[in-house]
Amino acid sequence: MEHLRILMIASEAAPLLRTGGLGDVMGALPQALTEIGHDVQIALPLYSAIDTSTYSFESTDITFPVSVGGTLYPTELLRYRVGDVSYLLLYTSHFCDRPGVYIDPATGTDFPDNDERFVWFCRAALEAVIRLEWPPQILHCHDWQAAVLPALLRDVYATTPTFQQSKTILTIHNLGYQGLFPGNQFERLGISEALNAPMGPFEFFGQVNFLKAGIVMSDVITTVSPRYAEEIISSEEMGFGLQGVLQKREKSLRGILNGVDYADWSPNKDPYLAYRYTASNLSRKRMNKVELMNEAKLPVRENAPLIGMITRLAEQKGLDILTDAADELFARDVQLVILGSGDARYEALLQELEDQFPDQLKVYLRFDTALSHRIEAASDIFLMPSRYEPCGLNQMYSLRYGAVPVARNVGGLANTIIDVDVDPDNGTGFLFDAYTGEAMLAALDRAIARFQRKRAWTKIVKTGMRQDFSWDRSAEQYASLYSELLS
Ligand code: ADP
Repeated sequence: MEHLRILMIASEAAPLLRTGGLGDVMGALPQALTEIGHDVQIALPLYSAIDTSTYSFESTDITFPVSVGGTLYPTELLRYRVGDVSYLLLYTSHFCDRPGVYIDPATGTDFPDNDERFVWFCRAALEAVIRLEWPPQILHCHDWQAAVLPALLRDVYATTPTFQQSKTILTIHNLGYQGLFPGNQFERLGISEALNAPMGPFEFFGQVNFLKAGIVMSDVITTVSPRYAEEIISSEEMGFGLQGVLQKREKSLRGILNGVDYADWSPNKDPYLAYRYTASNLSRKRMNKVELMNEAKLPVRENAPLIGMITRLAEQKGLDILTDAADELFARDVQLVILGSGDARYEALLQELEDQFPDQLKVYLRFDTALSHRIEAASDIFLMPSRYEPCGLNQMYSLRYGAVPVARNVGGLANTIIDVDVDPDNGTGFLFDAYTGEAMLAALDRAIARFQRKRAWTKIVKTGMRQDFSWDRSAEQYASLYSELLS
């Protein structure tokens, strides 16, 4: 196998920065690719949200100007290494020195210059590898923040020697976020106007759409589960206006399931847990449950199932059907712990519910990695009522932690959970189809009934804990796609 030079371009990457699944993926996929012999670097902006006192960065003494629409931004390159993976941290004070990553905490809305910020980032990533004399064979772009890179490559960098052999791949982690900007702002980006002409790659109903340009101009497109790849070209709802554009590229669209980093997510060696456990000592899992109930000041009721949720509080995640069904849900003998942050509207709704059902619901409104591990370990059931779910990671973490997923039958959830009533021998969870509170409750009722039958429940828990979604398999799939592209 040829060893490839692969540059990942992403706006977040664990351990330095993660706001959702993309950060997790970028913390694991590059590592898995280096383990099979590839040479991988990750380009990442050095936002002030990255705590520079926790990590030690190497300075490279490489600085260069990056042009965005004619304005030059002096840019510095720093480096951070994890194993064989090298992070190329790109810094310019104008775009990096501010609180927040995508959203301005002062206004609660996107930074108005996100278009310029991410054009700067993509150009800075390309300029950095030119300076490093490291011509990448693969430029792997993630989500809308990096989706502008294939256009830059064919436009501004069309004749740059470093990239003459480079192929581009765009991975869509979530089609709901496209990078939309006012049409009349395009000229400030320094990209040929022709690319934003009506029906051009960027043009989208009079607006500028970064993700659309990536879909049109990258050599190949992937998304993060086979089911989601089908959904985004066939359903108007899941296609978010881009299904036609995706259909045109159907032959170049693949679904590759994300993996789990079991070094971080294994209950037998999880440093965040008071009681580590395996499938053969599940009594210790119950001790984690009691521990969390005490911490949450919920009455300890071991025979009532504890339902866990860890989620961005966004429309995608099914919070509206959850709140619709709340009265009925809490009429049942269940307890629910939710860890989430995001949309202020949902934060308020959940807090109201917590006041209404203090013995049954505990809501933590923050981003808290340690607590997320403790919730996985404590929960009997893990709930993901998503409207759509490109891959979803928490259901895979839940399987490993013996928290049986109850989830909507969409996207990556459908690819990773086997319904117990469809396949009683191999079932790992409970799926529902309709996006309604009733359908969710019906699936929860199936789970709750099973929970009361201890032996049947333990079988489901143990089957789930045996599932293996390691990154090596996904890394192999990406690697063969890269080879295909280059051959
Ligand atoms: P998405 O990328 O849509 O947010 P995923 O399920 O793919 O959904 O990934 C979410 C990741 O972010 C998981 O690792 C999850 O544990 C983590 N996460 C989400 N919200 C929180 C939170 N409030 N605290 C800690 N971790 C969170």
